[in-house]
Amino acid sequence: MYTLASILSSISYKRKNIFNSEMQIISLAYDSRKIRSGGESLFFALENIRDGHDFIADAYSKGVRSFVVSRENIDISDFTGANFIWVENVLGTLQALVKQHRQMYTNPLIGITGSNGKTVVKEWLTELLLPEKKVYQSPKSYNSQLGVALSLWNLTEDYDYALIEAGISRPGEMQLLEDMIKPTIGIFTNIGTAHSSGFVSKEEKIEEKLKLFKEVDVIIYSSKYTIKSFISAGVKSFTFGEQDDDDVKVLSVEQNQLGQTDLRLSFLDKEQLFVLPFNDKASIENSLICLSTLLFLGYSLAELAKRVFKVKPVEMRLNLNKGKNNCSVIDDSYSNDIASLQVALDFLYQQQQHSKKTLILSEMEGLNDKLKVKLKDLLQEQKLDRVILVGDRLAYLKESLTGEVSLYSATEELVDQLSHIDFFDESILIKGSRSYHLEDVSRLLVAKSHETVLEINLNALVHNLQQYRKLLAPGVKTMAMVKAFSYGSGSFEVANLLQFNKVDYLTVAFADEGAELREHGINLPIMVLSPDEQTFESLLSHRLEPEIYNLRILNAFVRFLRSKGIIDFPIHLKIDTGMHRLGFLPEEVQDLGTVLLKSKEISVKSVLSHLAASGNRKHDVFTQEQIDVYKQVTQKLKDILHYDFIEHVANTSAIVDWKSAHMDMVRLGIGLYGIDTGKGKLSLEPVGQLKTTITQIKELKAGETVGYERNATLKRDSRIATIKIGYADGYDRRFGNGTGLMSVNGNIVRTVGNICMDMCMLDVTDITAREEDEVVVYPDLNKAAEAIGTIPYELLVNVSTRVKRMYFYG
Ligand SMILES: *Cc1c(COP(=O)(O)O)cnc(C)c1O
Repeated sequence: MYTLASILSSISYKRKNIFNSEMQIISLAYDSRKIRSGGESLFFALENIRDGHDFIADAYSKGVRSFVVSRENIDISDFTGANFIWVENVLGTLQALVKQHRQMYTNPLIGITGSNGKTVVKEWLTELLLPEKKVYQSPKSYNSQLGVALSLWNLTEDYDYALIEAGISRPGEMQLLEDMIKPTIGIFTNIGTAHSSGFVSKEEKIEEKLKLFKEVDVIIYSSKYTIKSFISAGVKSFTFGEQDDDDVKVLSVEQNQLGQTDLRLSFLDKEQLFVLPFNDKASIENSLICLSTLLFLGYSLAELAKRVFKVKPVEMRLNLNKGKNNCSVIDDSYSNDIASLQVALDFLYQQQQHSKKTLILSEMEGLNDKLKVKLKDLLQEQKLDRVILVGDRLAYLKESLTGEVSLYSATEELVDQLSHIDFFDESILIKGSRSYHLEDVSRLLVAKSHETVLEINLNALVHNLQQYRKLLAPGVKTMAMVKAFSYGSGSFEVANLLQFNKVDYLTVAFADEGAELREHGINLPIMVLSPDEQTFESLLSHRLEPEIYNLRILNAFVRFLRSKGIIDFPIHLKIDTGMHRLGFLPEEVQDLGTVLLKSKEISVKSVLSHLAASGNRKHDVFTQEQIDVYKQVTQKLKDILHYDFIEHVANTSAIVDWKSAHMDMVRLGIGLYGIDTGKGKLSLEPVGQLKTTITQIKELKAGETVGYERNATLKRDSRIATIKIGYADGYDRRFGNGTGLMSVNGNIVRTVGNICMDMCMLDVTDITAREEDEVVVYPDLNKAAEAIGTIPYELLVNVSTRVKRMYFYG
């Protein structure tokens, strides 16, 4: 345990103002939004996308009394009783502290890096080691400069192994990570193309990644990656593969009839068959890494063969689902340790849709006295309304937590009693170790649905938001377009995340979309693109700000406000500079100004226009003209109104291609959802993945026909899979008869015959596919759109609302 005094003795600082140096420090904080009660936190004012110094007051109001800062002129008289430490570099100080902390850990620390598979390898290794070892792992994908520091902070000396993931995106970063992590064993998963934008060559990337391992005893990797020449002298290699000098030899890899993989290995003159419950390349490679690591650690082939079946291509992520009785259910029942519990609790507190918060928590592996105290401290910091504990060793928490606390000895007992517990209008976090299979609880709490789902990757959404924000000059605001159900991806679920990540404005198409957001706790200002008279009441009661596009709607709105006795209601003026959709034409601006001047009921918050072809170089002259016209119009309006308003014209493609059009605010739409309009200038991540399942597979003879109208005649004996998606789900009929490509177990297959209303058929003759296998409907959204002559926007928003949206994080 640290006190402020012990921390001060291990870092260097410029000056300090200490009120109480005996204060206990348990957690490190850097994001004031994530603090619930900060009495025992040390806050680091990091300068990231936002400057942490601006959030000192917020952190203080949540109880934090100790701050590490670099800004000189902080008025500390505002913060009675607080400790301040001034340093040169705040992140560097955090890292230095963690570096010290790491030194008390003397057991093997396994560092994992590579382009892909880091998280899977980490999770699987933990799983394989757990029966008898205490394993510490960095949570989810906490692998960045900050993430690694935070994950090392929770490491204590009583673990047998620590597994720490490290990721980098540009040269120079790994050295800093190495300095903190100081791994003793290195795992190099693979080298691919992911995140390569920051590097000039593959070699540079390998060299950089291997800096993590410059002082390890050994590096474990596949000999198919020729990285030997980059490995530091004195570091041993432990390889697997098909070459004679590999330590672990792969004798054969074959798919069996059940779609599993028979893997035959030899090690130290012994041979062993492993049956892996999957057949995709990535999972096989990941299992080979894990097996080789365990062989290196001294396990025998025979012992491993007994364990490997437990390793499944598991849900390693935190899922957010719609529950019964209007609940939100966050299922994170894959692993349980302090650090990942912290991450999951943070996510729970991002949910604004319900004020009531419940935690269902199982015992953790390796729960010793020290961990018990940590867990108690962490839970006491939260403001949970109800805690349901599973496992008798958590009984000690009953006395220390306020609110409603109950205890069940085993998951089965909770499952039995579940129907007697009232869950209503609340957010429920389910967090448990694998062996407690709390997914059984989650299944009962989640509303059952049709098995076609649109999975929404919330991390990717945030990643994409950051990508665009990086292009903006300081002070330029971001308006996020969440119209049309956030381009098909959901309403408050997406808006919550955008609100948490501090976008400035949200925009919906219609008042009812805005009303739904307000009803789920979204407080950001919301602009409504197409208001009409029938919805004025709703605008008012939900604080929604209309876009006003002509005199008719302006006059009507002013009359409405007058009848209610309201003044200064915020509105947005839309100018038509060439899109010719909605908006005042430039020649109408004089009349507009006259009405505005005599209408104290409204106040112009912003003036906007929409660019018709900002993504198309062919129309650059036209786009420039639109911008020029817009500027003339806004100048005129300023002269008339004599007050400032926000100016904005740029949509996604203009953010990338028209810096001069960023003005005061940009309107980010499709790019947020991972569709790259900038042709590869940014590295966006796909957000939505439409998935369905195979209902039935049949063997048919050449000459038979498939589907309505007998449109497809089989040219050969075929295996045809019927899947659960049709045009009523938004899968366009034009994808029928081979135009649509889907992916099953990583293989691309084509549709056969016409698309039906709720189903369609795929030709799976050439691949391994079983009934109930998962099908990815659009492996490449851009290509799919092109194949039927439309654009990705349409495919996204056409996914029918009956298709369940499932959100995940991590
Ligand atoms: C939809 C919309 C946007 C966003 O466009 P993207 O191309 O998706 O970024 C911006 N402004 C207005 C007025 C819109 O209707």
